[in-house]
Amino acid sequence: MTLNTLSTEARTDWTREEIAALFDLPFTELVFRAAEIHRANHAANEVQLSTLLSIKTGGCEEDCGYCSQSVKADSGVKATKLLEVQAVLQAAAQARDNGSTRFCMGAAWRNPKTRDMPAIIEMVKGVRGMGLETCMTLGMLAPEQADMLAEAGLDYYNHNIDTSPERYGEVITTRTMDDRLDTLGEVRRAGINVCSGGIVGMGETRADRVGFIHTLATLPEHPGSVPVNALVPVKGTVLGDMLADTPLAKIDDVEFVRTVAVARITMPGSMVRLSAGRESMSEMTQAMCFLAGANSIFTGDKLLTAPNAGDDSDAAMFARLGLRAMAVSQTAAEVAAERMPKGCAKLVAAVE
Ligand code: SF4
Repeated sequence: MTLNTLSTEARTDWTREEIAALFDLPFTELVFRAAEIHRANHAANEVQLSTLLSIKTGGCEEDCGYCSQSVKADSGVKATKLLEVQAVLQAAAQARDNGSTRFCMGAAWRNPKTRDMPAIIEMVKGVRGMGLETCMTLGMLAPEQADMLAEAGLDYYNHNIDTSPERYGEVITTRTMDDRLDTLGEVRRAGINVCSGGIVGMGETRADRVGFIHTLATLPEHPGSVPVNALVPVKGTVLGDMLADTPLAKIDDVEFVRTVAVARITMPGSMVRLSAGRESMSEMTQAMCFLAGANSIFTGDKLLTAPNAGDDSDAAMFARLGLRAMAVSQTAAEVAAERMPKGCAKLVAAVE
């Protein structure tokens, strides 16, 4: 492949060889090309601020080797019940007031139960009514659950593919990559935008990172959002214990930026989100990621159960780098007046 073959058009026919060739480019060449494609598709200095709230923590029956919320992990994370709708709406109002335009709600489930759906639906409608984009991550979905979420107005459903198809079974044994792809298919069919990415720094090879990006970039449509996480090794998790005190415990910064740049080039229209692991990155590494096409971050002190760079340090970084937060398209009141579903108005009024 030559550099001239890089296009700003979205393609879903990427080959692994092409993606490997991108990873192999000289670093500055790769970042330069990614920045060009970024600028052709997005406002160069705007970054979307998203907030992630754990609406149901711990006790998850899946065995994801990186996760402190699995029942298989000895991480000390206590299992909680699903939060009350009003508590979620309060947190969403706070996130909106802090500048977030997207509110992501995550539950540590293999899949949602039928009895949980009414509260979930109320959360989606209430948060959407505040003028925030909504995203949920609840595990695997049955077709009818995807339809219910779509009907409630859910904007995005997050379901990460985690890693390459070849490495999948070494990281998770309680489900397969195909299970993951099936849920992504249901989400797409229901008309909800897909948010899907994964984690690097899990001891995988470059070839695995190529396979990971290749899987995302060859989905029938590129995910609207692509979170790129750097593993936060947590004691008591399979990967945290396995990688602790080894050189693999933290992904090399240059390789991380390369991964962001390749995601940007192969999925030009997607929001590429810096997610877990950002709190341990230098400001300069984050700046390189923004240059290479990352344009979304999670704000707040916590990412589910992991630490995150806080709002204050992000505000200082944005000021130093001259970055702007992506604007909320309408004020909460305007959106609430237009879209507030019956029954949620009272709840929102109560938290404002
Ligand atoms: S990553 Fe999600 S599905 Fe996997 S153990 Fe953690 S909460 Fe459960």
